[in-house]
Amino acid sequence: MAPYTSAEQVLRTIFGYHGFRGDQAEIIDHVISGGDAVVLMPTGGGKSLCYQIPALLREGTAVVISPLIALMQDQVNALNQVGIRAGFLNSTQYSDQRSAMEATFLSGNLDLLYIAPERLSMPGTQELLGRTKISLFAIDEAHCVSQWGHDFRPDYLGLSILAELWPDVPRIALTATATKATHTEITERLRLGQARHFVSSFDRPNITYRIEPKDSVTKQLISFISREHPDHAGIVYTLTRANTEKLAEELTRAGIPALAYHAGLDPVTRHDNQIRFLNEDRLVVVATIAFGMGIDKPDVRFVAHVDLPKSIEGYYQETGRAGRDGEPATAWMAYGLGDVMKQRTMIEESQGDHDHKMKLTAHLNAMLALCETVECRRQNMLSYFGESSEPCGNCDTCMTKPQQWDATQAAQKFLSTVVRLDQRHGPRFGATHIVDILRGNGTDKVRQYNHTEITTWGIGTDLSTAQWRSVARQLLARGDLALAQHSTVAITDLGWEVLRGSRAVPLREDVHRKAASVKEKPRSTPRGSQVEDPFDPGLFEALRVWRRQEATTRAVPPYVVFHDRTLKEIAAKKPTTVEDLAQVSGVGAAKLESYGSEVIALVAGFLAE
Ligand code: ADP
Ligand code: ZN
Repeated sequence: MAPYTSAEQVLRTIFGYHGFRGDQAEIIDHVISGGDAVVLMPTGGGKSLCYQIPALLREGTAVVISPLIALMQDQVNALNQVGIRAGFLNSTQYSDQRSAMEATFLSGNLDLLYIAPERLSMPGTQELLGRTKISLFAIDEAHCVSQWGHDFRPDYLGLSILAELWPDVPRIALTATATKATHTEITERLRLGQARHFVSSFDRPNITYRIEPKDSVTKQLISFISREHPDHAGIVYTLTRANTEKLAEELTRAGIPALAYHAGLDPVTRHDNQIRFLNEDRLVVVATIAFGMGIDKPDVRFVAHVDLPKSIEGYYQETGRAGRDGEPATAWMAYGLGDVMKQRTMIEESQGDHDHKMKLTAHLNAMLALCETVECRRQNMLSYFGESSEPCGNCDTCMTKPQQWDATQAAQKFLSTVVRLDQRHGPRFGATHIVDILRGNGTDKVRQYNHTEITTWGIGTDLSTAQWRSVARQLLARGDLALAQHSTVAITDLGWEVLRGSRAVPLREDVHRKAASVKEKPRSTPRGSQVEDPFDPGLFEALRVWRRQEATTRAVPPYVVFHDRTLKEIAAKKPTTVEDLAQVSGVGAAKLESYGSEVIALVAGFLAE
């Protein structure tokens, strides 16, 4: 098929966008001219266009290999909506549906065919693909070929056969995983030695990062959502299945519609909950990390963590599910002493040898350093991925620079209590009990062990209990304290250096936000999001309601009708003619045809009121 003359023309008329982003133009040119490509681009960066546009400009059908079977229907729907001929073959279809799709494919009337990797290793599929012209192979989620990543799919190893069977067909591998090791593995295992590599920045400028001290976490979560995202879709991550259900109930009771999602739910409920999340634009899902891979919902406006992730990789991937559409989104986390204790204990009790535990500890330490930093969070995270950057202006530490205080003396008081307890050759104690001793709280436990006799008894009344917990948390995060059995604490070699006075202890002063300071605005317009005209919130709401009805009628998610950004632009420009509406980003020829008159009528009606 070649009614299109150029990539720019396809971008404008089919997708309704007015310019390429980042490396898109170069990648597309390279693939159109027959080159192989390895593309590393963050979530929401716009990877799909990199193979969809060449698919329309090269002769034949493009074959897209994707492990996300649950998503194929939505992806194909979205393409059909803009007038692209796309289909899929996977195990969710009846055999007559599959035969029909195969026939369409063989007739040459298909621009893109999505298939699952396991299907490709079936001889029947290879034979089918061999019977017609393939324009290109796109290997989506290419990090699944990496054995060290958490998404390893054995079937991906079989994809090296593409190079052998179709040496002349260009291949483009795409992933949002940033690490060098994965990049190398993709190149080797998919035999992309000749490919050009396109590595984008992994910054997600439209995401605001915030990490606050945990205090009463359910209350904090409810307050965060109801102040900042009362009417939005979002994901809340927690560690345990029981907690997903408990939190979902509490949110619902607080007037925030929420559902639980975890691997232990019966398959029907789980599936229903996922479908509802995809199809609604104001629902919260409280999930264990089982939820996420394959959630391609562009309008997730926040991701909240009420438990500490195990690594920065995990945190980046989970928060990355927010704001794929490039609109402002929030990554919010509450974190406290209990989290450090829990994660350290989990590592101690985990199966695996010493090396494995060292690796887990290193991952956790990097995550803790991100939580405790007084510098820009984004800078910290990007440097972890090997990227250097300036302070972002769009994270909590940039917006309110945390104070540091010299906690050397406080740390010495704490650590010497630990040592004194040790010298009594009794049992070890946890951080809470040590805080009780320092604050002079006469608890039952204190009386039982005669801890009023310890010389540090009551010498810490200058700090509040919350401040002492913050000290304990940071000593654990820094490694001056270690966790011993049963969540008790012990001094480390580094801790001894503090006691001897040869290691200073600058600590972060916890910022407990006052209600009024919660809704801070980013200082600068985040890179990547266009400067928008102020839009009319009333018109935007009216458009959302219209979109919801339209989506229900057509049985597609709302974002398949129009993205939030498109609705905002309509609510700003208030177009009343077809020509004006066509200027709005995200309004291509097919959507203009389907929705143009309705949208114009809606805007005109709104203006008349
Ligand atoms: P990824 O697969 O990299 O996560 P997508 O391909 O899903 O990202 O693109 C993210 C969003 O950005 C989609 O809604 C897509 O339509 C939009 N998009 C992609 N490229 C452009 C562009 N050049 N102009 C405007 N929007 C774009
Ligand atoms: Zn910052």
